[in-house]
Amino acid sequence: MSNRTELVKLKRTLGRINALAPETAALSDAALQAKTGEFRARLQKGETPRALLPEAYAVIREASRRILGMYPYDVQVMGAIALFAGNIAEMKTGEGKTLVASMPLYLSALTGNSTILVTMNNYLAIRDGELFQKLFAFLGMRLAIGVTDNPKEQLTAAKKRNIYAADVVYTTHAALGFDYLMENLAASREEKFLRPFYYCIIDEADAVLLDSATTPLVISGAPKVQSNLYEIADYLVSALEKDVDFEAEDKNVWLTPAGVRKAEQFFYLDHLYDGTHSDVVRHICLALRAHASFTRDKDYIVQDGSISLIDALSGRILANTKLRAGQHQALEAKEHLKITMENRSMATVTYQSLLRMFPHLAGMTGSGIEDAAELESTYGLKVVRIPTRKKIRRVDLPDRYFPNIRAQILAAFQDTVQLHEKGQPVLIVTSSIAMSQVFSDMLLERGIPHSVLNAYNTAREAQIIQEAGHRGAVTVATSIAGRGTDIRLGEGVAALGGLAVLGIGRMDSKRMEVQARGRSGRQGDPGMSQFYISLDDDIVLQYGKETLKALRGGSAELHSRKIKRQIQEAQAYREDQSRAARAATFQYGENILAQRRVVYESRDAIIRTEEFSEEDILALQKKVIDRFLDSFQDLPDQSQLTRFILDHITYDLGEFPDTYLLITRQKMRDYLLTLSRSCLHKKLDPIPGKKGQTAYLRTMIIRSIDRCWIEEVDYMQLLLAINGRQYAQRNTRYEYRREAYASFQTMRRHIEEAICRNVLLGDLQPLPGISPMRQILIWRCYLGRQK
Ligand code: ADP
Repeated sequence: MSNRTELVKLKRTLGRINALAPETAALSDAALQAKTGEFRARLQKGETPRALLPEAYAVIREASRRILGMYPYDVQVMGAIALFAGNIAEMKTGEGKTLVASMPLYLSALTGNSTILVTMNNYLAIRDGELFQKLFAFLGMRLAIGVTDNPKEQLTAAKKRNIYAADVVYTTHAALGFDYLMENLAASREEKFLRPFYYCIIDEADAVLLDSATTPLVISGAPKVQSNLYEIADYLVSALEKDVDFEAEDKNVWLTPAGVRKAEQFFYLDHLYDGTHSDVVRHICLALRAHASFTRDKDYIVQDGSISLIDALSGRILANTKLRAGQHQALEAKEHLKITMENRSMATVTYQSLLRMFPHLAGMTGSGIEDAAELESTYGLKVVRIPTRKKIRRVDLPDRYFPNIRAQILAAFQDTVQLHEKGQPVLIVTSSIAMSQVFSDMLLERGIPHSVLNAYNTAREAQIIQEAGHRGAVTVATSIAGRGTDIRLGEGVAALGGLAVLGIGRMDSKRMEVQARGRSGRQGDPGMSQFYISLDDDIVLQYGKETLKALRGGSAELHSRKIKRQIQEAQAYREDQSRAARAATFQYGENILAQRRVVYESRDAIIRTEEFSEEDILALQKKVIDRFLDSFQDLPDQSQLTRFILDHITYDLGEFPDTYLLITRQKMRDYLLTLSRSCLHKKLDPIPGKKGQTAYLRTMIIRSIDRCWIEEVDYMQLLLAINGRQYAQRNTRYEYRREAYASFQTMRRHIEEAICRNVLLGDLQPLPGISPMRQILIWRCYLGRQK
């Protein structure tokens, strides 16, 4: 359906809502408030939310006027209708998306299902949540905020349960993701807190669904045995030469045959890739990527002897975030820092798979149409472009092109000075921190006061950007820092021409440029935007044609159509690359998703089980014993049998019979089963009551599942890291899936064995004076810490 037909449909519904406005406005406060109860009852009786939409929207619209003093404009209501239908509403900055979201949130919450709004950061979730709390409270609903602004505060499971039980939850995508992972590490019903996912609106949807799509959320746990290969591999890689020994493309790096030979000599190996040196291969891969794909001060900074990552998106430092699967350690080796402990990934989820779990998903963004096709194919979300309330008056001046960074910056700087002298506020958007610093230094030298928004300056971001529209303000920001806060014009600024956005450098995608321009010209304000492009732009250097490089001399502005087109092509290529990377992550996500679903469902079933019987355990033990016996052509000998019993049944070999009595498979099987049964009794009998025994069994089972699942998650990540080399090849996906499937089957076997082993061999020596029930609690705390 074309956008126009969509809009016609939206307008039809809007008409019905508008028609209800007079009678809704005539309602007393009490009568308006009573509507929530009435709607709930009607939904209970079987009316559909869709049928209810016009009335519900008319009610919250009126309530919003009374409580917040804002009456949603027609275009806002149209956006709200599009959101309830599960679309991405493209609405420009300043159109009031926060207010738009409140309408579908209200309607969804009326159904009694979990209803969530995710924003980009804590600040926005808290700011918007606090504002809209009043509105929802008036309508008899509870709005809870899922994040805190106190980084030290740890929300307990009970607190989280209270939050997620609310009618509407405002949170961030990161908090939601971590909560989802934590929820599924819970060992008992008391530790669970989420309700089944139902409806979620994503603010700044393109940033979350596209730009952050390949950043997985990871909960790490118990350290692995530390490898000493990082420094060694780094030493090798430092001596290798690009395009001779290795080649790099985007985030992928691989050895050339010459490089393979050098590595083999260095490590004294006959064949690097014969399958037995995967650890060495992996460390070389990681070291290569540390050198070729990560740039200091762009992707990470070194501060106080440690590495901090920089969010490619906002240019902010990602506190407490580490690269996975050893990449962080490889970077530390590259920078000659102390190598930190490498943790296991205990649970991971990508935003792609997290958000796809919602049966009803919707999004809002100022720029989405550029990537509409991908959003539709990956998430089934259609982008509907909602018209602005007032005509856009911002003037987007044609891009200017320069041969090199000097000429580029100089031109942007001169324009900034000129605009500033008039008093017009200027927002300079750069594509790297380094660039924003250079620019800031130049402004400083000229004595122009300004604010910088980048990785070194996070706290006041929103406040600074809010003031960016004041007379004489100059603000330098990396790509989308401060997104989500609209820039209002100060006194008299409109007459000066509004906010000027100057973009330095071609950005990674057209969408980001649209987003940057959109900071200016909100709600029909005047404004202007202009981009300054040069042949030194990262995107040109990385993806541009070789011929472009020859033209970098001089300082004269470039006007050749051909050059412009080639730069455009470089950007398009970059966009393709990102899309491909997202598709690959998507595949990975799908694989782990299928596995995760099975594991989490089994876990949940176990947590919900009221009672376990010893027969359940013995049934598993039977399988384990059969597998053991099947692994021998003949029968195991005495020492093999002893080993098995010590590993799986008991440490007490007191009653061990002579093997000559166990002359058939059947006899041996019966013997092992009987032994298991009596050992299980010995374990369980001292625990008083079925309840205590069930608690013991549950703890052991969950622990076994988690242990094996953690191994699996970790392995899948490693697989991905190693596969980096063959990424470009077609069949990788298939290979990856095959490996993933095989390892999943292995994991299932391991889980069965682990359960039996942990139950039978688990140590439950009661501490003197402590009841067995309490003992289990201590156990659990201990396990919890182990995670
Ligand atoms: P966006 O996220 O679309 O950029 P915001 O939700 O931040 O926009 O809203 C921008 C500003 O417009 C906010 O200060 C909000 O209070 C105001 N606003 C939004 N809708 C209305 C309305 N219907 N009437 C009055 N003010 C509004």
